[in-house]
Amino acid sequence: MIKTDIIIIGAGPVGLFAIFEAGLLKLKCHLIDSLPQPGGQCSEIYPKKPIYDIPGFPSILAGELVDNLMEQAAPFKPGFTLGEAAVSIDKNEEGDFIVTTNKGTQHEAPVILIAGGLGVFEPRKPPIANIEDFEDKGVEYIIKDPEFYRGKSCVIAGGGDSALDWAIYLTEKKIAKEVALVHRRSSFRGHLDSVQKVMDLAEAGKIKLITEAEVVGIEGQNHVEGVVIEHQTEGKYSLPTDHFIPLFGLKPSLGPIADWGLEIEKNAIKVDTTDYSTNIPGIYAIGDVNTYDGKLKLILCGFHEGTIALQSAFARIHPDKKNVLKYTTVNGVQGF
Ligand SMILES: Cc1cc2nc3c(=O)[nH]c(=O)nc-3n(C[C@H](O)[C@H](O)[C@H](O)COP(=O)(O)OP(=O)(O)OC[C@H]3O[C@@H](n4cnc5c(N)ncnc54)[C@H](O)[C@@H]3O)c2cc1C
Repeated sequence: MIKTDIIIIGAGPVGLFAIFEAGLLKLKCHLIDSLPQPGGQCSEIYPKKPIYDIPGFPSILAGELVDNLMEQAAPFKPGFTLGEAAVSIDKNEEGDFIVTTNKGTQHEAPVILIAGGLGVFEPRKPPIANIEDFEDKGVEYIIKDPEFYRGKSCVIAGGGDSALDWAIYLTEKKIAKEVALVHRRSSFRGHLDSVQKVMDLAEAGKIKLITEAEVVGIEGQNHVEGVVIEHQTEGKYSLPTDHFIPLFGLKPSLGPIADWGLEIEKNAIKVDTTDYSTNIPGIYAIGDVNTYDGKLKLILCGFHEGTIALQSAFARIHPDKKNVLKYTTVNGVQGF
C-alpha cells in the first residue's frame, strides 16, 4: 500500500504542476498514469511541437515543458506509478481513499486530484481476429523497456514517428536480433530524418523494410511465433518473429473515470469552480478532465485550477491549521 497526502490520477502537465503547488503546502503527492512516461498529451501526442501560450515562455517545445515541470517538482520527491491505469476508488474505515490500478497496486490518501485529461490512452489495434489472444505473449502496443527485446526478432508495424524511432533504436543499439518494419504505404508520416535513417538502415541490410503491406494474421501456440504479411502485389506470406509490435498511436477514452460515481457532463467531470471539487467530497478534478461554464482546455488554465484546488485540499487535510499565502520569493522552495 502506497500512502501519501494526495493521489494524483494523471501525470500530464497539469498533474505535474500540482506536485509543486502541493509541495509549497508541505503536502506529498503520488501520481498514477497509464502511460509509461509522464507528460500526458505533451509527451504522447506532440513532444516536438512548440507551445506559445505558457506564461514567461514565448516558445517552448511540449517535451521541454514536461522536463521543466519534472525538474520543478523534483524537490518535493513525488512518487510515480507509471504504466498502470487507476481503475477503482474505494474508502477505508478511516475515510481515506484507496485507489487501485489494473495491475493491483494500491494507493491510500485523504485527497484525490483527478488530472486525467482526455482519459486513458488506449492503443489503436490492427483488425486482426486473434490479436487479443497474443497480448503480453509477444504482442505489445507500447514499448516500455527496450531491453525486453534483447536478442529477439521484432516485427514493428506503423508509419509514424513511434514506429520509425523504435525500429531505429532497437537496430542501432543492437538490442533486437532482427527488426522488420511493416507499413501499408510506401511513404511515412514521421520526421524526414527518421525516414532517411530507416531507409539507410534498410539499404545496409540492418532493417527489413516491408512497405505497401500489412500484418493480417498472427501465428503461434502460446506465444507469437510469426506473423502473416499481406503485400499489395506479392500476396500473403509468413514471417517468423518473436514479437509483433503494432505502433498505430493511442486514442484517449474517459475509461474507468466514468464509473467512479462522479457527475459527468460532456464526457468530462463537473466541478465547482470555487475549488474545482467534484460531487464526491475529497475528490477534485483539474485540467482537461473537468468541465464548467467557460471551461478552456488549456495548460495554463489547468495550472490555475490545480493551485486553487490544493488550497481547498490543504484545509481538508489540516482543518486545524491556517494556511497563509506566502510568495516563493519570500520562502524560496523548501523541498522534503
Ligand atoms: C496537438 C495538440 C496541441 C496542443 N497545443 C496546446 C497549446 O499550444 N497550448 C495549450 O495550452 N494547450 C495545448 N493543447 C492542449 C493541452 O495539451 C492540454 O490542455 C493538456 O495536455 C491538458 O493537460 P492535463 O494534464 O489536464 O491532461 P493530459 O495531458 O491529457 O494528461 C492526462 C493524463 O492522465 C492519464 N490518465 C487518464 N485517466 C487515467 C487513469 N484512469 N489512470 C491512470 N492514468 C490516467 C493519461 O494517460 C494522461 O497521461 C494541445 C493539445 C494537442 C492535442
